[in-house]
Amino acid sequence: MRLTDLSTIREIMSRHGVSFQKKFGQNFLINPQVPTKIADAACVRPDDMPLGILEIGPGIGTLTRELAERADKVIALEIDTALIPILDETLADFPNTSVINQDVMKTDLTTLIENEFLSQGMRVSVAANLPYYITTPILMKLVESRLPFETITVMIQKEVAQRLTAPAGDSEYGAITAALAYYGKTERLFTVPAGCFLPAPKVDSAVIRITLHKEPPVKVIDEAMLFKTIRGAFAQRRKTLANSLSTEFSHLGREGIAAAIAASGLDASIRGERLTLEDFARLADELYRLGK
Ligand code: SAM
Repeated sequence: MRLTDLSTIREIMSRHGVSFQKKFGQNFLINPQVPTKIADAACVRPDDMPLGILEIGPGIGTLTRELAERADKVIALEIDTALIPILDETLADFPNTSVINQDVMKTDLTTLIENEFLSQGMRVSVAANLPYYITTPILMKLVESRLPFETITVMIQKEVAQRLTAPAGDSEYGAITAALAYYGKTERLFTVPAGCFLPAPKVDSAVIRITLHKEPPVKVIDEAMLFKTIRGAFAQRRKTLANSLSTEFSHLGREGIAAAIAASGLDASIRGERLTLEDFARLADELYRLGK
């Protein structure tokens, strides 16, 4: 069964009376090399420990089958009930795979990951061709869960991939880039042209891999203050850091904000997009001390 063949996809979907659901961001892979490359990137085995994979949005099971060939166990969360009978058929040869008909945003990931993988002595990673309408919320849910994922390998829109992997100072670097750097190291692996999907989306895609930090790369007094500082620094992109922070930290006044910037060793005229995670951590600690 070649699930990337157009004729196979059309046959199986029409036999089950299923059509593409735009509202669920359904763009299925039709280039056989892409699921293979994603699965190779996601299923890294540094030692003998069994490998579990959480997949989000299996669709008709194209990537799932590649993952099931490389991992010891795959759990796939699919929101679209209409696809479940198709997945029963396409994954019938892979007893190490289970599909759960559930919205990832409403799933208790902590319980799922503990019961399905960690309690069985497995390492766990995430792999997905993500639905584009909900990419950032899913990524933030995954990293904020603080679950011990080794890596998160996902296909996302190319522009979003550029933003998530931009270095400080780059025009694409934003609050999400800095926030994500706190949780892991993000690398861009390869680009996937729009023509590799059915239906073809309007834009190209890219695969990124986030390797989660075991310990945060910076130590801060208060994590919430770090994220508030990052948010504040990008609130008004075209303004200086001091001006941009004045909305989020209005209670400190201009002088307070200027003092915190100076105490963290930054130039008074710097813009938020030039700050590295280390800069944000120092600044967040100074703002925290002032606020006390
Ligand atoms: N993995 C398949 C592939 O690569 O061909 C399909 C990828 S398609 C871009 C995204 C998939 O995510 C669809 O199957 C869609 O129904 C599913 N999906 C969308 N929103 C979801 C959610 N909130 N939770 C779980 N699955 C979701």
